[in-house]
Parts: sequence; C-alpha cells; structure tokens
Amino acid sequence: MAEGYAATPALRFASLGSGSKGNATLVSDGETHVLVDCGFGLRETERRLAQFGLHPRQLDAILLTHEHGDHIRGVGPLARRYATPVYLTAGTWLSGRLGEVPRHEWVVPQSRFAIKGLDIDPVTVPHDAREPVQFRFRAHDRHLGVLTDLGHPSEHVVEAFQGCDALILECNHDRRMLDVGPYPPRLKRRVGGHWGHLANVQAAELLARLGLDRLQRIVCSHISEENNRPELALEALTPLLSGDESRLLVSAQAHGFAWQTIA
Ligand SMILES: [Zn+2]
Ligand SMILES: [Zn+2]
Repeated sequence: MAEGYAATPALRFASLGSGSKGNATLVSDGETHVLVDCGFGLRETERRLAQFGLHPRQLDAILLTHEHGDHIRGVGPLARRYATPVYLTAGTWLSGRLGEVPRHEWVVPQSRFAIKGLDIDPVTVPHDAREPVQFRFRAHDRHLGVLTDLGHPSEHVVEAFQGCDALILECNHDRRMLDVGPYPPRLKRRVGGHWGHLANVQAAELLARLGLDRLQRIVCSHISEENNRPELALEALTPLLSGDESRLLVSAQAHGFAWQTIA
C-alpha cells in the first residue's frame, strides 16, 4: 500500500521494518528526511522506501545507531549508490563493518547536531557494540525518541528521553519465552543481560519512569520473532495507558508501520 508523502511541516516517522532480521526507521520534518539504520539489502530498501512515497535520493542522511548486522547491512550499498552521507560514532566506524562510503560525519554521543531543520541528540545506551547510541529528534517543537537495542534502562537513558511526544521503544523479548525458547544458553544470557536487549517488562518499567502524559504514540519495536509475540508486548504496556490504547502500536518485521504524524 503506497502512502503518498505530503511535505507539510510536521515531525513524522515511519518504519520500513523492525526486528532481528532488519531495522530501518524514517524521520522527517516535512523537508528533511533521514533514515535511522538500514538492515535491509539495497533492492529491498528501495522497494520499502517506495511504499512510503520516498526515493532514496530524497534521503538527506543515514544515521547509524551501531554496527550490528540488523542495523548496518544495507547502509554501505545504499550510501554508495546514492551518495548519501552517513552519520556515525567513531566506535561504530572502527568496527570496520561499514566499508567505504562517499561521505561520513562523526556523531559525538551527547552532542546535539542538526540536519537542516531537524535537531538530533545522540544518546549513549548500554548495548554490546563499540559505541552505540540511540537518537532523540526535535522539529516544529515536537520530540521523537528512537530507543531500541539497550540491555537495561540506565539512569542516563531515563533522563535523556524525558518529555517526548512519541517514542519508538524496544520490546525485544518476553523473559519466560526467552528462558524456555530455542536459543543456546550463551545467546540467552547475551539477549537477557545488561548489555543485550530490553524485555517487555523492562520496557514497561522504563515507560512508567518516562511518564505518559505527553506521549501521543508509543511503538513497540525490535520484537523478537523467536522470543516474543506482539500480544505479549502490548499486554505489558497496556496497563500504563489508562484505557487510551489507541496510542500504542506495534512495528512488524515484514512492513514496519505507516507514517505517524506528531500533532
Ligand atoms: Zn544491536
Ligand atoms: Zn538490533
């Protein structure tokens, strides 16, 4: 289903897909379009972007959170083909996983930068990569948090993501499903550990600490296909919503979620 892209001045976001097989998030202020991560191959990315009414040449930048394959796989091919600048931390670059790109810009954690009208705060997160960050965006006086791939909600994260109007939040696994699931013990310890991924129950705790008053949209993301189910993620967060469940969405591996405009 192609959704036409109207260049109206508002902060909006969408996902090309989310999960351990590939992640890519679109953020736009109506004029500036950035892609956060690209875990899909070149053809697949082109196809998925078209479904959101965008051509790769319209991307002003690709922002990288970290070097894991589900975030970086398509970044080099996309950037080389369309000469798209890639923004990344020195640690992510030093991982050597990106390959050559025509242009890159350094992201310094905790140092705000701008791409045209879009203000961006890179926030350090606890995850087992070289120098991982997640991002907080601001445009038109609205704030969007993109927050996946973190092992636990550190104090720093809780502070950095206060007062957002919309939040893409990792709900990676259900602890019981991870326990009894098919992963080898070492991988279970990694995923469930302090430098792995956020469990549904941790996502709920984090959300409670962030407060829900301003949040118009909360998107459960990076849901494991092996160790979670969308219903379990929704079940964990729903009690916090005081009956207003329309604010809660799920991002799917196959098609992400449609454009969301922050009012
Ligand atoms: Zn990761
Ligand atoms: Zn990931």
